[in-house]
Amino acid sequence: MKVAVFSAKPYDKLFLSKYAADTAIEFTFYETSLGPDTLALCEGFNAVNCFVNDDLSVPVLSTLKDFGIRHVSLRCAGFNNVDIKQAEALGITVTRVPAYSPESVAEHTLALLLTLNRKTHKAYNRVKENNFSLQGLMGFNLHGKTIGIIGTGKIGLAVIRILSGFGCNVICYDPIQSEVVIQSGGRYVSLASLLENADIISLHCPLTPETQHLIDRTAIQQMKHGVILINTSRGGLVATQEVIEALKSKKLGGLALDVYEMESELFFKDLSSEIIQDDVFQRLLTFPNVVLTGHQGFFTEEALTEIAMATINNLLDYQSGTINPDNRVMTAPD
Ligand code: NAD
Repeated sequence: MKVAVFSAKPYDKLFLSKYAADTAIEFTFYETSLGPDTLALCEGFNAVNCFVNDDLSVPVLSTLKDFGIRHVSLRCAGFNNVDIKQAEALGITVTRVPAYSPESVAEHTLALLLTLNRKTHKAYNRVKENNFSLQGLMGFNLHGKTIGIIGTGKIGLAVIRILSGFGCNVICYDPIQSEVVIQSGGRYVSLASLLENADIISLHCPLTPETQHLIDRTAIQQMKHGVILINTSRGGLVATQEVIEALKSKKLGGLALDVYEMESELFFKDLSSEIIQDDVFQRLLTFPNVVLTGHQGFFTEEALTEIAMATINNLLDYQSGTINPDNRVMTAPD
């Protein structure tokens, strides 16, 4: 089976090649992303394998069908970049890796929160220059603080477990409540109550038409003054320009992002010698109370191993006609 892998980085090649070694899968790795301009690269393949910022919109899917490709395999959990309805209409099966080490993203969420709060990134640079002044480095205890978790699926639950260990008061919002979340120390409240009462808010719900810009000016107005916002889920959950306004007015006391709504132009590339054209992202970088990482929540050895193994299983399962229903992406029944 010939599979074209898009947005392939050296670590993707390493992990996918290693776990496909004894299979009939033949990977061709393309560093470029999949989109209208790179579609020609897909000709002659049985399947494409894509990542978070590959473009799987209607025109791309239609051409894939014309090339005889009936399987889009995602090596990620989120699928907001795929037009699922259109894929179904075209008879293209979409598979993903719904669960891979949720702890990888949960632990990165904590890394961002602790960095933002205790300013370890600034302290590291100061100490390197023999500057041992503590002025400006004061943080606060997480112990006893109220943390609001929006989305209590696999990653949200892993974050709740860690925060319960810190002695936080964890309040949660999710349209589907989970008993294990309650047993792990989470208390479900309404979204309005969470926004009103949390000292720190962390986003762990998927990006859907309903959650697009969930955190906008109206939501921010309901929050406590000085609230801290963490987003390791998907950039589109946050209306970035409105969050910048809230940082300028100090309504928002801190912001940590691993994801950004226009990230497809920036992330996963070395642009250190380029002129960045995205003024909104550049404005975010100027705030002393903003910490940004480039979508690296998933980036642990354990997660990459699980992603590679599940991706290969999905490809082989599709070929043998026995797809794991949990790994197949389908539109919700009407
Ligand atoms: P999951 O499907 O296990 O959980 C998502 C939860 O969100 C579900 O419980 C669902 O009921 C809830 N939800 C849906 N709509 C909601 C709404 N309007 N308000 C509140 N909750 C809502 O998914 P997961 O594995 O926990 O992943 C969560 C998100 O993390 C993914 O959608 C993905 O976008 C993101 N993610 C990021 C990285 C990274 O590297 N930063 C890696 C993997 C996943």
